[in-house]
Amino acid sequence: MYSCTDTLHGTNIMDDDKALFPPVDPFSAGARGCCPRCGQGKLFDGMLKVKPGCANCGLDYSFADSGDGPVVFVLLIVGFVVVGAALWLEVNFSPPLWLHFLLWIPAVIVFGLGLTRVLKGLLIALQYRNNARPGEIDRG
Ligand SMILES: [Zn+2]
Repeated sequence: MYSCTDTLHGTNIMDDDKALFPPVDPFSAGARGCCPRCGQGKLFDGMLKVKPGCANCGLDYSFADSGDGPVVFVLLIVGFVVVGAALWLEVNFSPPLWLHFLLWIPAVIVFGLGLTRVLKGLLIALQYRNNARPGEIDRG
């Protein structure tokens, strides 16, 4: 599923020299959890923690701050799907309560974590692509 390679070249390419890298589709790179600049290095250290930088191209990930943005979408999407499915199951089959717990609690955990990783990667890739950052007051 995650097909980005993570090779360490040891090169020290300047961070602001984007001409060396062809444009990377933020949706593809974000969904695969890859570097938003080169599309090769891994973005995550583990499940959801962002690495300090790209091992492939050297991009510093310190700009990446998706905050609670992905979680809002995850809550809305997973909540809609799981509550809808639970209501459908209850109305049509009326299973015992323990079966609801057995089905929906793992479903929420698995879908929630998986979707959070995908959406966090996507929002960081879009943040890089659009050069989004916190607002600044121009005093100049
Ligand atoms: Zn990279």
